[in-house]
Amino acid sequence: ICLAGIYQVATKAGINARLNYKNGSIVITEINSSAIENQLSNNDIILSVDGHNVSTIEDIEFILDSYAIGQQVPFLVERNGKEITIPIELESYNTITYLIVLFIVGCIFFALGVIVLKKRPPGDLVVLLFHWICITVSVHIFTTFGRYTINPIIQGYSLRIIFMLASAITPILFLHLSFLFPRKKWLNYYKLIHGLYIVTFFYFIYMAYLFLSAIKPISIPAFHRFMQNYNVGRWLFAVCMICGVVNFIQSYRKAIEEEERRKLRWVILGLAIGPLSFVTLWQVPQILGSVALVPEEVMLLISAVTPLMFAISIVRYHILDIDFIFNRSTVYVLVLTIILLIYSGIVATAAVFIGVFTIRSSIIVSAVAAIIVALLFEPARRATQRFVDKKFFRVRYNYRIAQREFTSEIDHYIDLVSLAEFVVNKLDALLQPERIAFFAFGDSRTQWELLAGRNMDYLQSGLKRTLTAFTNRSLNPLMAIPAYLESGISFEKANEKIFRKNHIVLAMPLWLQSAQNSGFLLLGHKKSDTLFSLEDIDLLKTVVTQTTSAIERIHLQQDLLLQHAETERLEELNKLKSYFVSSVSHDLQTPLTSIKMFAELLQTKTNISKKDKQEYLDIIQGESDRLSRLINNVLSFSRIERGTKEYKLSKVNLGSIAENVLRTMKYQIEQNGFELEIQLPENDIIINVDADSIAEALTNLLDNAIKYSQKQKRIVLSVFREKECAVIQIKDNGIGVSEKDQKKIFSAFFRSGDKKIQALGGAGLGLTQVQHIAEAHNGRVTVKSKPGSGSTFSLFLPLEEAE
Ligand code: ADP
Repeated sequence: ICLAGIYQVATKAGINARLNYKNGSIVITEINSSAIENQLSNNDIILSVDGHNVSTIEDIEFILDSYAIGQQVPFLVERNGKEITIPIELESYNTITYLIVLFIVGCIFFALGVIVLKKRPPGDLVVLLFHWICITVSVHIFTTFGRYTINPIIQGYSLRIIFMLASAITPILFLHLSFLFPRKKWLNYYKLIHGLYIVTFFYFIYMAYLFLSAIKPISIPAFHRFMQNYNVGRWLFAVCMICGVVNFIQSYRKAIEEEERRKLRWVILGLAIGPLSFVTLWQVPQILGSVALVPEEVMLLISAVTPLMFAISIVRYHILDIDFIFNRSTVYVLVLTIILLIYSGIVATAAVFIGVFTIRSSIIVSAVAAIIVALLFEPARRATQRFVDKKFFRVRYNYRIAQREFTSEIDHYIDLVSLAEFVVNKLDALLQPERIAFFAFGDSRTQWELLAGRNMDYLQSGLKRTLTAFTNRSLNPLMAIPAYLESGISFEKANEKIFRKNHIVLAMPLWLQSAQNSGFLLLGHKKSDTLFSLEDIDLLKTVVTQTTSAIERIHLQQDLLLQHAETERLEELNKLKSYFVSSVSHDLQTPLTSIKMFAELLQTKTNISKKDKQEYLDIIQGESDRLSRLINNVLSFSRIERGTKEYKLSKVNLGSIAENVLRTMKYQIEQNGFELEIQLPENDIIINVDADSIAEALTNLLDNAIKYSQKQKRIVLSVFREKECAVIQIKDNGIGVSEKDQKKIFSAFFRSGDKKIQALGGAGLGLTQVQHIAEAHNGRVTVKSKPGSGSTFSLFLPLEEAE
């Protein structure tokens, strides 16, 4: 159809003269061809063509369209009051450039129509509609008025009828599209559209009938009837197009998602370029000065931009950043205007001073102006860019991507502080607010704490009260100062005075499922000074919802962990308890047995020597001491556990504590056959400690040294200063402690798994005690040991305690 169409346009015949209306008749105003120069002249009034009286220029075109180029047609003209008939040889009506442009533009539409269909899945109504719009426009262009009597005659007639069909249906398709793209607008739209399709169909049938009745045979009155109806169609066309455009603009205003807006921006850009340039370059200049600013060919080319933008919008709206295009064109138009103004300013100022320009002075002035302008260009461009960014383009971010990233990342956080830090970082980067804070119940879950924030580190009590009052769940989950929000966002009005005092503009509560408010997200105004948009608020709402569920998840995890730890502790304690009972009873049993045994000996044996008696009594005394140490250890451990152990500090000589301990341990040491070396300092070390506790620690260490030595029975006890500490050190040559056990021996109830050691008995409380005592004095206890060759335990006590 298109190819046949372009053929009939190419063979369109006519006269190369400009015709105008003057006093209701058709007058020749300009003759553009040398061939008819001698036959027709300016101011000739055309009365009839080929025997048909004509009253409009369209009548002439209609008649001539039935002839071929080169055919002779009789024209009846009135020249100087006389009527004369002049046979005129018809020429080609269209220029070759026009034909080429028509062909190109027609092809562009056609190609777009095909491409869109190829790129998008079939079955998408929007794509189908756009496809048909492109095809009908393309057909409309190709089958524009040409010779309708080409052979075979049916072909010429059909092309005209197809043209009418295409031009009738295009606006309805466009209107239809505007109801569906980017999303369906109105549930009942199809009733209207379907009605319109039916009306259009009958209109088209009627037009086809009128046309046919005007051409066979050619009848001017019938043609006039046809034209009247054709003009009705033009109105229909205009109304449908305007409604479609209004529909698109309205969709844009109502669009919620950034993606939709981007799509619509392409559409609107397309609509702006096509019709806008048509009006400004073609229509208005013609009305004002009767000459168009650009030839029809250029106009046609520009019109092809519109479907291109539509195609981008429908198929690949993201290939180019539409905002970027808008942004850059705004910037450059502004910069160019500024630069031109500066340039003219410089030249004008120079003119005032110089008076009359000579060639030389004008070269100098323009050179200077050019240099200044060149130097100013970059700074001006940057400043303008900043201005435009700030004024017209809010912080650009892709809403969808931000949301997706947020959703996938938030699950990685398992504690409140890092969660808050993440949320604040994300929002800070996306919205760039002047300040932001994440107040929420911390791990205590009783009080709001600042978990994370920028430029904001405490919550003033006034604000706190305002926020606390905001606990009604039925209220809008957004409290804001209205001046900082774009219109169309629903919110709860904030206490403006308090908000402003704290430099925040909006607050969003973090509502937990348990209907409990666990905190707030507070934001200051944006650094860019732009308002919070609907997308921003949507993003914030998503963030808040996801954050609250993350908080809930974290709470649940913490509860579970606590429960788990508690059960484990109870189990452990149970195990320890039975172990403790058995080992302590064993430890109590040994000294009790010997006490009982020697006491019985003293009772029953009559002839005991004085020496023996003394020895028995010493044993009883020593074993009782051991018993009481053991019981002391247990008691003291239980005091430590309950947190009731107290230390009474007094200034004492460390050496004498050691000596006292050795005195009480004498029996045990000697009985076990130990060799003891004592190294005391020359000068007394006076230190502020609880003497009894230190003695207790030392006793425990000595006890262990005795207990865990085998053949090598040698112990060295030394007391000395080292840096700022006083040190009590006990070195034995016993079995030693393995590297692995060294870390654990200070824990309560720990006993090495070694069978030999297990056999020795013990509650595993001695070293725990020592460590507690050391720490209570701000000191520490260390062990150096090698299994098989002995251990050295050192108790460090800071000396400044003496002050
Ligand atoms: P207990 O001696 O009642 O087992 P302690 O807390 O005093 O409890 O000691 C814990 C563990 O540390 C002991 O079971 C033992 O394995 C190890 N240990 C303590 N002192 C020494 C030492 N001087 N030589 C070797 N091992 C020791």
